[in-house]
Amino acid sequence: VIQLYLPLNFLGFVYREVKHALADIEAMLGLLACPPEVEDRPGARPLVLSGGEVRFEAVRFGYDAERGILNGVDFHIPPGHTVAVVGPSGGGKSTISRLLMRFYDVDGGGILIDGQDIRQVTQGSLRAAIGIVPQDTVLFNDTVRYNIAYGRPGASADDVERAARLARIHDFIVSLPQGYGTRVGERGLKLSGGEKQRVAIARTILKAPSLWIFDEATSALDSHTEREIQDSLRAASHNRTTLIVAHRLSTVVDADEILVLDQGRIVERGHHSRLLAMDGVYAALWRRQQRPEQDFDDLPELAQCG
Ligand code: ATP
Repeated sequence: VIQLYLPLNFLGFVYREVKHALADIEAMLGLLACPPEVEDRPGARPLVLSGGEVRFEAVRFGYDAERGILNGVDFHIPPGHTVAVVGPSGGGKSTISRLLMRFYDVDGGGILIDGQDIRQVTQGSLRAAIGIVPQDTVLFNDTVRYNIAYGRPGASADDVERAARLARIHDFIVSLPQGYGTRVGERGLKLSGGEKQRVAIARTILKAPSLWIFDEATSALDSHTEREIQDSLRAASHNRTTLIVAHRLSTVVDADEILVLDQGRIVERGHHSRLLAMDGVYAALWRRQQRPEQDFDDLPELAQCG
């Protein structure tokens, strides 16, 4: 009986694991809105990382042939630096992060990481190198611990807690009825947008990628939550190459370079103080955002700037 039981038991275990993994992959695909059309090229090689440098060279892209979304975008993120993209809604900010993950191939120009065109490397190695905190984090129907540990399978409870502390979410987690064992997701405790983003930041801290993409939530957060997320992001992305897709200028003031994207073109670039001194699109945005309860999406006249 034991001889029969063990293999059956093992098969049951494998079945559960595979089912779990498939559910997770499904959730991840939903999470990352991953379109299926991009495939590894024959002979694609794993990405070889050195410092984690990103280059966009004359990138042109449209989701369909009729409408260009990015019309020649050039920028460079030196290793360990932070570049933030700002601009009006629909200007193509999130598209830049999708292209860096190679969910789509560019129509013109190229994207290089540490000198390698991302079309020439395997997608597995590319996505392993990048950690993304998306606008809307979808949590798995499992415990908070599982949701964070997902960033690095096999992570110890201590590692998970350390990541949660860095992401400024630990105190909140221990205040939950079952602490790290609390079930979250659609069928568990519903977390707020800010809490979910901090769980995603903790997950990404555990993954320890060479490149970070932080796609800031569009939804308005109260100023306390906003500060908590900014603190956690700053701690986590310190000395890591980071691309921030920002909706609030308060998130970008410390960035090494800010790109102002409007209608698929970079219309201004530089550090916060330089952009203010230029007194152009960014400075106008800044002045408007000093008024409470406003962000880019409340500014229809911005589309005419630049
Ligand atoms: P927001 O600030 O509102 O997040 P954004 O600057 O990040 O906007 P993107 O999400 O990059 O803008 O979208 C740029 C344009 O591309 C938008 O007009 C959008 O409607 C379009 N777009 C985005 N995703 C797709 C898609 N999968 N298929 C077709 N068009 C898309």
